[in-house]
Amino acid sequence: MRKIEHLGIAVKDIDASLKIYETLLNRSCYKKEGVESEGVLTAFLEIGETKIELLQATNEDSPIAKFIAKKGPGIHHIAFDVEDIDSEIKRLESEGFELINKTPKDGADNKIIAFLHPKSTDGILVELCQEKKN
Ligand code: ZN
Repeated sequence: MRKIEHLGIAVKDIDASLKIYETLLNRSCYKKEGVESEGVLTAFLEIGETKIELLQATNEDSPIAKFIAKKGPGIHHIAFDVEDIDSEIKRLESEGFELINKTPKDGADNKIIAFLHPKSTDGILVELCQEKKN
């Protein structure tokens, strides 16, 4: 684990939330991207060495739609930057953490990602993300 790569925030209306966060942070969104497999639309803002990822559901079955129905808008996950996602997955599994994804998958913003189950991290959904090597 090298640093917090981004904080994921579940929102109802990404354009309305972008206006708030662009004003709050006094900078513009640098990327908007859909992740079809997850049923989400994402928008990223850079803040120092880390980022804010806004997530809006694009369908009712999206994990973001379910999260908002249950808890309302708010912090959805913390993403940590890792150098080698496969070895981190192995390490965390051997330490007893429950992985939602044992095999990394494609995420937004040129990353491969894997999630840890919140029940093994005191209620926080944790994302591991590794920059894609092109
Ligand atoms: Zn994320």
